[in-house]
Amino acid sequence: MSAILKANWNYPTRVWHGPGRIAELPAACATLGIKRPLLVTDEGLRETPMIRQALALVPGTGLFAGVRGNPVAANIDAGLAVYRSGDHDGVIAFGGGSALDAGKVIAFMSGQTRPMWDFEDIGDWWTRADPKGIAPIIAVPTTAGTGSEVGRAGVVINEATHQKKIIFHPLMMPGVVISDPELTVGLPPSITAATGIDAFVHCFEAYCAPGFHPLADGIALEGMRLIQTYLPRACENGKDIEARSRMLAAASMGATAFQKGLGGVHAIAHPVGAFFNTHHGLTNAILMPYVIAHNRPAIEPQLAVIARTLNLPGEPYQAFLDWILAFRKRLKIHHTLADIGVPLTNSETIGHEASLDPSAGGNPLPTDAATYARLFRSAVKGDLTLAG
Ligand SMILES: [Zn+2]
Repeated sequence: MSAILKANWNYPTRVWHGPGRIAELPAACATLGIKRPLLVTDEGLRETPMIRQALALVPGTGLFAGVRGNPVAANIDAGLAVYRSGDHDGVIAFGGGSALDAGKVIAFMSGQTRPMWDFEDIGDWWTRADPKGIAPIIAVPTTAGTGSEVGRAGVVINEATHQKKIIFHPLMMPGVVISDPELTVGLPPSITAATGIDAFVHCFEAYCAPGFHPLADGIALEGMRLIQTYLPRACENGKDIEARSRMLAAASMGATAFQKGLGGVHAIAHPVGAFFNTHHGLTNAILMPYVIAHNRPAIEPQLAVIARTLNLPGEPYQAFLDWILAFRKRLKIHHTLADIGVPLTNSETIGHEASLDPSAGGNPLPTDAATYARLFRSAVKGDLTLAG
């Protein structure tokens, strides 16, 4: 099986995919000319065998394991201090979405002189950066969801304003990605499900985003089909390497596709995550049906294609909505934001922040702050009729 599931892709970057390929970490460093890498990872992975193994593979590798879930600017500053004091010349971003994002931003900031917020993903602000000051990046995902390993941005919370800011530069695309499904077999079913649905939302929102991008559309459709088939298998048997392997690919496909755009699910999930520190994938998984109900008038043609791709008979909107609700239930995903401790308070602020979020630009239906606030309340209460 592993022979079939092993391949090298140059699409959208150099990806070494297959079980056991973490052993090629030294080759990845050599490929990018990295001699003294800093490995950046999540707090929760610090003591794990896979981090010890990675450190042993490339002697002299430094470790920064100070990235919390939903990383904040202080995490980046602390990582930069370790990077500079250790005279490192590249970053191995290793872990879930938070570690990948933080590792990429640390590599990006390592040789910049301006403050980080000057590089927020607004207009052409990325051109303010000195490209020679961006250290080479190897990405090693340990969840199948974020797709950050093939993305050109990192999300960091500005604690002063409770905003998730996207730091963007084309050269933040990792130079080598090692996609080793064996690194994901230990993920518990709940995290497997939440991260996997995040990948589905990436594909779904990208496909429904307005704009001419047939490449992204094709990738998004196949990504959704893979997740429909393999996410339940990965949740039910974490050691199913074929399911884990295809889910890792689907996660990279989601992030590849969303170069086209995202939409209202992410627009609301970002401020919810910034205010309440909720898990990004889980927040998206809960929000998705409410935003779909709202967007219905603008996405009927796209839903017809998605329903055909997922082999869902009947009227496409209802068939898809019924399927996604059943899919969530099968994966033991909650139906309401209240279930994960998000209160109704702050709904006007959440709505306002959602309307300003960069993802809002990809929502198929123009949606104002008051409407985002209503969608947020509908997801807290679990009332789909409030959304549609
Ligand atoms: Zn996401």
